[in-house]
Amino acid sequence: MKYADPLKLKCANCGSDGIYPLELLRSLKAVCKGCGGSFKTQGESINSSILSMELLQRLKELILALEESFVFDASELEYSTLSTVGDIIDFLQASFPKLSRSDIEFKLSLVLESKNYDGKIVNIPTFLLSELSTTEVL
Ligand SMILES: [Zn+2]
Repeated sequence: MKYADPLKLKCANCGSDGIYPLELLRSLKAVCKGCGGSFKTQGESINSSILSMELLQRLKELILALEESFVFDASELEYSTLSTVGDIIDFLQASFPKLSRSDIEFKLSLVLESKNYDGKIVNIPTFLLSELSTTEVL
């Protein structure tokens, strides 16, 4: 889902409706116009939901690039089953039993680099995909 900006919120404490800029809510500094109560919890949940949307978007782009590079159909893939680089490698190994692990790692590193990520993370199976953005090398 996408958030409206500004966003209309009803205060859980006093029940008053207010319109708040998304940035203020995301900075966790927004307070209710009626009672002055903090909207920190709402801000945190907006942040985590936006983060997971961004992560999902990045994963989708990555999988699309993998489909092109490895020539296969990943439309049945459940993104929720992927949380680390090792999960992607395992998935590719299961899809391509004839390829050696080092072949898969090499091809995966090329795909990662084509998306401006650090290809060396293929050597760190426990690397969390949620951290992908922080390794971007531009
Ligand atoms: Zn209130």
